Amino acid sequence: MIREPLALVCTCEIAGRVRGKGFPLADLAGRLKSGVGWVPTNTMISALGPIADTPFGATGDLVLVPDPATELNVDFEDGSAPEHWFLGDIRTTEGAPWQCCPRDFLRRALKALKEAAGLELYSAFEQEFVYTGTEDHPGAPYSLEAWRRQGGFGESFVAAMRIAGLAPDSFLPEYGVRQFEVTNAPALGIASADRAIKVRELARATAHRLGHRAIFSPILDPGGTGNGVHIHMSFRDGDGRPATHDPNRPYGLTKTAEAFMAGIIAHVRALAAVTAPNPVSYIRLTPNRWAPTWAYLADRDREASLRVCPVLAFTGADPAKQFNVEFRPADAAASPWLALGAVVWAGVDGISRGLSLPQQRDIAAMAPDQRRAAGIAELPHSLGEALDCLEATPQAADWFGAAYLDAYLRHKRAELAMVADLTPEELCARYAESY
Ligand code: GLU
Ligand code: MG
Repeated sequence: MIREPLALVCTCEIAGRVRGKGFPLADLAGRLKSGVGWVPTNTMISALGPIADTPFGATGDLVLVPDPATELNVDFEDGSAPEHWFLGDIRTTEGAPWQCCPRDFLRRALKALKEAAGLELYSAFEQEFVYTGTEDHPGAPYSLEAWRRQGGFGESFVAAMRIAGLAPDSFLPEYGVRQFEVTNAPALGIASADRAIKVRELARATAHRLGHRAIFSPILDPGGTGNGVHIHMSFRDGDGRPATHDPNRPYGLTKTAEAFMAGIIAHVRALAAVTAPNPVSYIRLTPNRWAPTWAYLADRDREASLRVCPVLAFTGADPAKQFNVEFRPADAAASPWLALGAVVWAGVDGISRGLSLPQQRDIAAMAPDQRRAAGIAELPHSLGEALDCLEATPQAADWFGAAYLDAYLRHKRAELAMVADLTPEELCARYAESY
């Protein structure tokens, strides 16, 4: 069959789904300048497809401009067309960043961090998903048998990540039914969120070529195990040196890192609306699933919102380089640009206000009443509650800008109304199709 190479430029907006437009590869030089046409209302396309409510109507024009640094070109050598695409920025027809560009939301947050503290964020997304190309069998968590039953998927997926420059770190059978996890090396700034999008899409691309699916929906069965996205964060100073760890301070955090983490904890109920932005996200964020349910930071506690990860001193590797803190109330229904951006904005607010964390204590051992008495907040129990928290957060309008915040809230509330009559089982089934 005759073929002409095509490429696509993509974005990942409020719905967390990757959408874009294609063009002949021969036109790449021009497209890198002019992009492809995009429209404001595209950001209101729900994860389910329909647009229920839009402040933009049918008017307005934008461009989606590929960033050449994000080019992904993976030929699976199976005769299928290569995965050849770019991530892009949404700009006005004058070339300025559009006020609702998700990538620019993160870019602005990272700039604010640099201005507030002279720091760059060094981060990595740890992502869980369900691979449908393997059947379940009892007692499979982390098992060699589960790893074996996924067949060649893992090797093809990791090969694709390698070709795409995504620095694969691990691929493993997880606890849940047909659940796997993938990690890749950290990256500075925006590149880490770009990588998170690429990792998800390459898992889907690999599974698709094998006649299956990689499903990143936050949870597939109300009684099952959730698919979490954990964002590992540390800082680098202006000279590229690690700048997160002070072994002599509480939790091992420098004063600035503590203020950043305290800002996240102060805002985490509102952040959830962006990092766990789906109705089923709140089925995952329930007790006894190793998903967070309370707003606190702790050492090595998998039900904390922020977990200080262990440093393996015995390896001889520099503890300052290993040290990182993991944000756990995120999932893959969120655009990585929006999730990371919101987390960074909250951290910057903590730095600006000089916030500190409460005295170290064993929160894992405290009963719910003791936690409440100690002033520890619960994470929202529903997307609606999280959206109300976001709306009630005065800083959110500064982070997003009023128009973007309004669009975000309208998008999610309209989607909640669309699925209001579904049972938890129906919700899980519906969103397993979307993500
Ligand atoms: N599946 C858990 C979650 O939903 C995380 C398990 C783990 O600690 O890796 O976040
Ligand atoms: Mg895991």
